[in-house]
Amino acid sequence: MAFDSLSEKLQNVFKNLRGKGRLSEADVATALKEVKMALLEADVNFKVVKNFIKSVQERAVGQDVMSSLTPGQMVIKIVNEEMVNLMGSETTEISFKPGNEITVIMMCGLQGAGKTTTTAKLAGKFKSKGKKPLLAACDIYRPAAIEQLQINGDKQGVPVFTMGDKHKPVNIAKAAIEHAAKNNYNVVILDTAGRLHIDEDMMNELIEIKENVNVHQAILVVDSMTGQDAVNVAEMFNNKIGIDGVILTKLDGDTRGGAALSIRAVTGKPILYVGMGEKLSDLEQFYPDRMASRILG
Ligand code: GDP
Repeated sequence: MAFDSLSEKLQNVFKNLRGKGRLSEADVATALKEVKMALLEADVNFKVVKNFIKSVQERAVGQDVMSSLTPGQMVIKIVNEEMVNLMGSETTEISFKPGNEITVIMMCGLQGAGKTTTTAKLAGKFKSKGKKPLLAACDIYRPAAIEQLQINGDKQGVPVFTMGDKHKPVNIAKAAIEHAAKNNYNVVILDTAGRLHIDEDMMNELIEIKENVNVHQAILVVDSMTGQDAVNVAEMFNNKIGIDGVILTKLDGDTRGGAALSIRAVTGKPILYVGMGEKLSDLEQFYPDRMASRILG
């Protein structure tokens, strides 16, 4: 289960805090040092950890907390609130164009992150919200990508627009949008090509699509199991092409959780959904408060 080891460590720290009647500043400092260690071991970005501890510390040693009847409880509450803040406070919804205007969503990410699977998962979510989505196969490099998208689209009952692998992705995207306009689809999700590593060609292709097609939302898919690498990938994509949000996959297998806790603070971009398994129904909306509760127990 996600966050298992971080959760366990934090719960131990909290148990000690709860057990104490009065708290001295030294008690708080010791507890926060342990929280800091637990976060670093969970692979949370070190600057994020530093700022987090500073915020908690400033609030926790205040008069109100130290003189309260349950100071331990109050420190725990502050940690919880700051953790919710760290992940963006509010749930961010994917925004759509008003009325029946076509919303174009560009999915991007490195190969293996779960982009194609997530694209189909998302199409299912949109469909259940009453939208009429169309998937567009713009990954012309990985031989099985188009077929994989078609298989997943079929499972979701969402059609896939494809022109094979002989056309430029930007032209496929344009044609898909025309097709959507003629056939009353109101969301077009572009499945773009991933590479094993970030390279200039990939970025230029995404920039070309963004410059030529009216992309309403660019969504980055990253693998939470890659920890700080996922955070670095998000930062690079955001700097190069500008992203509107992140979907964090494979959280079901991530016992550490460093990416989930760092991405928002490092990139300023929200986590929209989290992937919780391989099945097409395993995509959950991201709620910072519920995630914090899950971590803190
Ligand atoms: P792409 O190369 O980025 O398009 O990645 P794929 O969509 O092909 O996914 C790569 C692998 O990750 C596949 O085996 C997926 O089933 C798996 N996968 C994707 N999302 C999740 C998730 O949230 N949890 C788990 N456990 N596996 C996932």
